[in-house]
Amino acid sequence: MTQSHFKESIYVSEMEVSATLAVLMEAERLRKEGVDLIDLGAGEPDFPTPRNIKDAGEQAIESNFTRYTATSGIAPLRQAIVDMMRRDFGTSYDPSEVVVTVGGKQAIFNAMGTLLNPGDEVLIPSPYWVTFPEIAKFFRARPVIIDTEPDDFLLTARAVSNAIGPRTRLLIINSPNNPTGRIIPPDEFRKIAEVAAERDVWIISDECYLYFAYPPAVPFTAGQLSEDLRSRVMICGSFSKSYAMTGWRLGFGLGPKPWIQSMLKVQSHSTSNANSMAQKAAIEAATGQQDSLRAMIGEYKRRRDWVVPALNAIEGIECAMPEGAFYVMPNMKRLLGGRVRDSIELSKLLLDDARVVVTAGSAFGMEGYIRISYANSLEAIQEGVRRIGEVAGKLSGR
Ligand code: PLP
Repeated sequence: MTQSHFKESIYVSEMEVSATLAVLMEAERLRKEGVDLIDLGAGEPDFPTPRNIKDAGEQAIESNFTRYTATSGIAPLRQAIVDMMRRDFGTSYDPSEVVVTVGGKQAIFNAMGTLLNPGDEVLIPSPYWVTFPEIAKFFRARPVIIDTEPDDFLLTARAVSNAIGPRTRLLIINSPNNPTGRIIPPDEFRKIAEVAAERDVWIISDECYLYFAYPPAVPFTAGQLSEDLRSRVMICGSFSKSYAMTGWRLGFGLGPKPWIQSMLKVQSHSTSNANSMAQKAAIEAATGQQDSLRAMIGEYKRRRDWVVPALNAIEGIECAMPEGAFYVMPNMKRLLGGRVRDSIELSKLLLDDARVVVTAGSAFGMEGYIRISYANSLEAIQEGVRRIGEVAGKLSGR
């Protein structure tokens, strides 16, 4: 290997490598050795992409739809996204208010990069998806964390109001939430948007789990806010989770035209456009039959309904019933403090002793908890929870 004097830029030097990486790398190593692991760490659907969507992608390749597209995404897809949001949530956007991106992540990155100036503050409710604070830092902005634990992990207008200061420029909302699975009730969502508007704060609404709301909970998108409030919100959406398309890398930004235009500028000088075949597949996802989406949602609900009581039946674990996404975040505090000090050590123990992969709460800025993903078969979840119970039994008998 050649020696290198590479020194990374100031933009990246403050970026943190995920604390959970060591556990994930160990899991990867064990998997390669053929060890039987139960993976409750996954952040993606365990289902294959539905057949009709795959067919549309194949058809795009066969018909040589393999060239650059418009930076904003092809017009039929932008129209399909607008129509999908109208059909499912009653919103009314114009296709000029859409940019198709390389996954929801690129929409979030570009939305932040086009809004933030050095020294601006970004309100990030914790627990948070780890990418939010790291992108803020990349643009020399300062993450300001709002702890939602005292409010049962629901962001409130009061907490937002208390956190806004003279330098606050942006609030990030992620509902349904990764990692808690909680959904902000529509009335509170409106109040939050009002508080932000009164204080001249913009909003990114990360809605990549929008469809994952289990009855009686209903999904709520920022697109359902009044025209006035909505004009300060960039929705960052994704096909990754709803249509089991994580690898296709297809997402979108939906928001005020000037903000979209600015994001287009950045995109035209970075990725140019989202993958052309994936765009065709996404049209089918948005406009084709929705049976597989409904079936997946039904299956996730069945798993959630099993996993929450099963975790609560384990001595030392408390788990609230979340309304959506495909995660639960049990409180493990009663098992910590002795042999195992924190959530990272607990996730390591679960991997070493029980061969179960979970994500430590500290990865989301929330010590004392772990995140369990139920994007795995019910059989695997049942075996995983049984093994977690065994480890918990040993710890509580310490
Ligand atoms: N936002 C949240 C909260 C996520 O969990 C993820 C993926 O894990 C994303 C956004 C981005 O997903 P993608 O870029 O695949 O659309």
